[in-house]
Amino acid sequence: MMNTIAKTSPDLTKDDLILIAGAGGFIGGALTRRFHEQGFTRIRAVDKKPLPMWYQRVPGVESLCADLSDEASATKAAEGAVEVYNLAADMGGMGFIERYRIECLRSILINTHLLESAYRAGARRYFFSSSACAYNTDLQKDPNVRALKEADAYPAMAERGYGWEKLMSEMFCQEYWAERGLRTAIARFHNVYGPWGTWYGGREKAPAALCRKVIEAKDSGRLEIDIWGDGNQTRSFMYIDDCTYGIDMITHCSQLVATPVNLGSAEMVSINGLVDMIEEIAKVKLQRNYILDAPRGVAGRNSDNTFIRSVLDWEPSTPLRDGLARTYAWIEQQYRARKAGEEVVREDFVAQLA
Ligand code: NAD
Repeated sequence: MMNTIAKTSPDLTKDDLILIAGAGGFIGGALTRRFHEQGFTRIRAVDKKPLPMWYQRVPGVESLCADLSDEASATKAAEGAVEVYNLAADMGGMGFIERYRIECLRSILINTHLLESAYRAGARRYFFSSSACAYNTDLQKDPNVRALKEADAYPAMAERGYGWEKLMSEMFCQEYWAERGLRTAIARFHNVYGPWGTWYGGREKAPAALCRKVIEAKDSGRLEIDIWGDGNQTRSFMYIDDCTYGIDMITHCSQLVATPVNLGSAEMVSINGLVDMIEEIAKVKLQRNYILDAPRGVAGRNSDNTFIRSVLDWEPSTPLRDGLARTYAWIEQQYRARKAGEEVVREDFVAQLA
């Protein structure tokens, strides 16, 4: 595996307490594993999902079930924390964020309480996981878009619900630095994918959903695939290892304090192009059915990495084809396990809606 070199700050010792919020989810789980593998001995992993539903549980890590949108729970979770990473949010792919805007907006409570709790606990650093959905949607109406640079969030016209929550929470992070001196870090993720992510149930994103559909088609012998939209919408996809490495680098970079920065791949691909790659990995050709009234998000989006490159001399660079092959293999194994009645990464998002 690439990107395993420790980049954490020299002022962080191995027994400093690190809090990871949303650790039962995809990115939080991978980040917990990263810090654990680097030898940090005091990691507190928190998620509102019951422990058996966590995507990954890292042995030796304190794992707690708590709702961090509740002020008292956030205060308790942050007690003694030296660094706080907020990866907790009610979110999913386009199907979820277009349908459940209220749930997405309510994630503002998590960041609001966690940030205040981190400040009161005397934490040294706070990381917030923002999103490319914070960018002005008017700039994303054409599949051949120019890549989005950090300044493109304003004048603001973020994605309804989910994007506005991210933009407001970014602002909270910036003001906690400006007014109270808490070092915050803000990364705008562009679609993240990889093993140990959600792959069925309603919250999954395009790469995992398409891998699963291809596997289902092969397995059933019905060689067709449903694609949301006309397949011409474009995106870039970042492999999970690049994401966790980037979080570490951004959080510990003194030039990026309270400064939103893109964390995404600049390898733009259309959804049709993504399906081509998965078909090639799966060694199959499917008939494509385009579902034109399905949620499809903006027409085009890509990450302009000029800023991150200039500061960190690095950008996410795992080729999509390589990351997809690993993701496809993992989902295929999960699919087989589910069919055999074994325990798999699962998500029942309807049951979780209050
Ligand atoms: P995920 O859904 O896998 O993980 C989020 C976790 O947060 C879930 O396990 C959920 O149970 C938990 N959570 C939700 N509400 C909570 C609460 N009130 N208290 C405690 N835990 C709560 O999502 P992910 O892909 O790992 O995303 C992590 C972060 O990155 C989120 O902030 C998300 O908005 C952001 N992000 C992700 C992507 C992506 O492509 N995955 C893209 C842009 C931004």
